[in-house]
Amino acid sequence: MKAANTRDTTSETPPRTRILVVGGGYVGMYTALRLQRKLKPELDRGDAEIVVVTPDPYMTYQPFLPEAAAGSISPRHVVVPLRRVLDRCTILIGEARSVDHAKRTATVVTLATEEEGAGAVELGYDELVLAPGSVSRTLPVPGLADFGIGFKTVEEAIGLRNHVIEQMDIASSTRDPAIRDAALTFVFVGGGYAGVEALAELEDMARYTSRYYHNVQPEDLKWILVEAAGRILPEVGADMGRYAVRELRARNIDVRLETRLESCEDRVAVLSDGSRFPTRTLVWTAGVKPAPVLAASDLPLDDRGRLVCTAHLSVEGADHAWAAGDAAAVPDVTSDVPGALCAPNAQHAVRQTKVLAENIVAALRGRPLTPYAHSYAGSVASLGLHKGVAHVYGRKLKGYPAWLMHRAYHLSRVPTFNRKARVLAEWTLSGLFKREIVSLGSLEHPRAEFETAAGGRPPGHGGPTARARPGTAKGTPPAGTPGALDAPEAAPPGEEPPRTGRDESADSSPDS
Ligand SMILES: Cc1cc2nc3c(=O)[nH]c(=O)nc-3n(C[C@H](O)[C@H](O)[C@H](O)COP(=O)(O)OP(=O)(O)OC[C@H]3O[C@@H](n4cnc5c(N)ncnc54)[C@H](O)[C@@H]3O)c2cc1C
Repeated sequence: MKAANTRDTTSETPPRTRILVVGGGYVGMYTALRLQRKLKPELDRGDAEIVVVTPDPYMTYQPFLPEAAAGSISPRHVVVPLRRVLDRCTILIGEARSVDHAKRTATVVTLATEEEGAGAVELGYDELVLAPGSVSRTLPVPGLADFGIGFKTVEEAIGLRNHVIEQMDIASSTRDPAIRDAALTFVFVGGGYAGVEALAELEDMARYTSRYYHNVQPEDLKWILVEAAGRILPEVGADMGRYAVRELRARNIDVRLETRLESCEDRVAVLSDGSRFPTRTLVWTAGVKPAPVLAASDLPLDDRGRLVCTAHLSVEGADHAWAAGDAAAVPDVTSDVPGALCAPNAQHAVRQTKVLAENIVAALRGRPLTPYAHSYAGSVASLGLHKGVAHVYGRKLKGYPAWLMHRAYHLSRVPTFNRKARVLAEWTLSGLFKREIVSLGSLEHPRAEFETAAGGRPPGHGGPTARARPGTAKGTPPAGTPGALDAPEAAPPGEEPPRTGRDESADSSPDS
């Protein structure tokens, strides 16, 4: 097979040892990075080869997604280009569909195989690192698949930002109170750090953005957090979780504990407490489950579908197979609780890669393996600009100090000096200038303008390049996407949309 890359990954005379890394996230990138350093002599001699199979040419620093959604960090700076960082590895943009470890082969689909219509190809390996992470764990909630959106990728984060601002534009221009109400209602399901940080950052951003609307005020926006358990943010402990609930409620965010989403058909979120919220925004962050490729392997899985691993990060009972991160059930040897496993978070993922890479090299060189041992240090979470909670090494912080710690911690963790410098520069600039408040949802449909000009499909066809864009009448995107909206009932030309009495002259100065 010719890889979609500069190097042929299946040449007639394969290198002596091929290490196949499935996944280019935290675990995949850091493991490959450490391996390319430690195996430099072998790589130089051609005795070893590291192949990274991943659907995207970048690693996403997920803890920065909420800030990307809020516009505090550009999307390009929350991702790390794999080809630049892993310059001694072969990067294959594709997806492993199955793994036959008994035969030491993985079935891989690349962009090229799809173009050629040739189907998946088999890629042989000697050592396997399975790090495909997790995907959103959904439940069979009616309407969820049609109207929900997750919050795990940079595309989702930016799509959501554009969508929220677009809802404010719709609310501002419609004369129909029902459309306005649904547009300004935002429902988030799941009170872990992904859901809470995403909601808190977006609410903060939308509250600020409303200054620039003559007829949308912060109190018009309805933010609802739905959590099935009796607390949020378990990662920061019970006290800080309670503080976070108080802080969010003080901002008029409707936090509903011990409540479940029952359905969201026809864009109406129905909760287990009987309440109903017509909404165009339903964000689902209620947990994750292991990536589907694991189920298509002959490797042992636990009851949650994660790879059963040893403390050495090898897959139980399978020589030459290794795993870490969200996809792996790794014993927590620091816990007193029998059978305790490491939680699926970045803190464990990044530390595991150090031991993982060392153990692979040790195995190749016939040396003893080291067990992974790290006791959870605690967590930090942002609740919007200048607001946060933290519980780290037994110390509890809230408000500005916690937010500062959140930024300092993640700045120290985001990979590469290049990204650290860019993120720091952006934070500094955003402290000096006003926030960005535009929706660039049209970027998702770059051909729409030209299609209309060229007399292609008529506006409102609902095709993939169309989107609701007031003024250009580009139509609407498919239901279920963040931009999936019914065309709002706009105020007739020459008539003002309904006003809410806000003083338009306030905050009308241009960006400083
Ligand atoms: C919004 C958000 C905020 C978070 N904040 C924090 C935080 O503050 N602190 C913290 O500790 N943790 C946080 N986490 C969790 C943390 O990001 C994850 O635990 C961590 O990314 C797990 O690393 P991983 O390598 O296992 O998976 P990932 O980083 O998800 O990487 C998996 C990679 O595998 C690829 N892949 C999937 N399937 C295949 C396949 N079949 N073939 C090839 N490649 C495949 C994926 O595209 C991806 O690139 C957050 C997560 C989210 C979503």
